[in-house]
Amino acid sequence: MTENIEKLSALHILVTNDDGVHAPGLLALTNAVKPFGSVSVLAPDHNWSASGHVKTLSRPLRVRETKLADGTPALTSDGAPSDCVALGVLGILRKKIDLVVSGINTNSNLGHDLTYSGTVTAAMEAAISGIPAVAFSLAEPRDTSEEKDYTLSQIVIREVVKNILDHGLPRGILLNVNIPYIDVEQFKGYQITRQGLRVYHDNLVRRKDPEGRPYYWIGGDPPSGIVEKGTDIGALAENYVSITPIHLDLTAHHLISTLRSWEWG
Ligand code: MN
Repeated sequence: MTENIEKLSALHILVTNDDGVHAPGLLALTNAVKPFGSVSVLAPDHNWSASGHVKTLSRPLRVRETKLADGTPALTSDGAPSDCVALGVLGILRKKIDLVVSGINTNSNLGHDLTYSGTVTAAMEAAISGIPAVAFSLAEPRDTSEEKDYTLSQIVIREVVKNILDHGLPRGILLNVNIPYIDVEQFKGYQITRQGLRVYHDNLVRRKDPEGRPYYWIGGDPPSGIVEKGTDIGALAENYVSITPIHLDLTAHHLISTLRSWEWG
């Protein structure tokens, strides 16, 4: 037990997100992981939701000190979430990082969302650097501005981090965790899932600026998805937390032999 406590207190956790350093979800995540060791916060200075996996090469990155709403010291950068992780790993944080946690994102990150998500791509950046990482997203209702309830999220975050400490994560793997927005009493448990199929409802909104030039919005209703057992979307639909192991191998392995059978000149 003593050994375990020493291991926990030695842990250095980097907290980041894509909603910006002052998003309430980041504070909730920071507080949830504090019992596991020393925590560094390095997060973007504005919202980068749906920014994908960014590596900023064309301009310098700035990092400055700030404080979270409860006074916790934090660092913030004008880079993307993945830039924040890279900055931390490459030396802005002098201490070696043992775990990267990203979130808690406002809205779920399911199925194809992963390629758009700044929350998940921050965790991907950590995985590329060989650091265990978890992305946390909360399936909040989109149309409310009221204060969010992170009670269930904090229980889930502690359970996930505890399991990673107990079992470790293979190099290059991250966990994508989605939490339903429900009361603790309604919570059914944890499901280990695969990515489901998102259905996007995007449409093109054409308008004209004051000078008569056209501009476009990609608009539409929020995405839905195919509710299927075993998937992230299916788990959330039944009030389970979804935990999906993700790796960065995008190869369609089942097509390799077919493509090899084609005539290749
Ligand atoms: Mn976001």
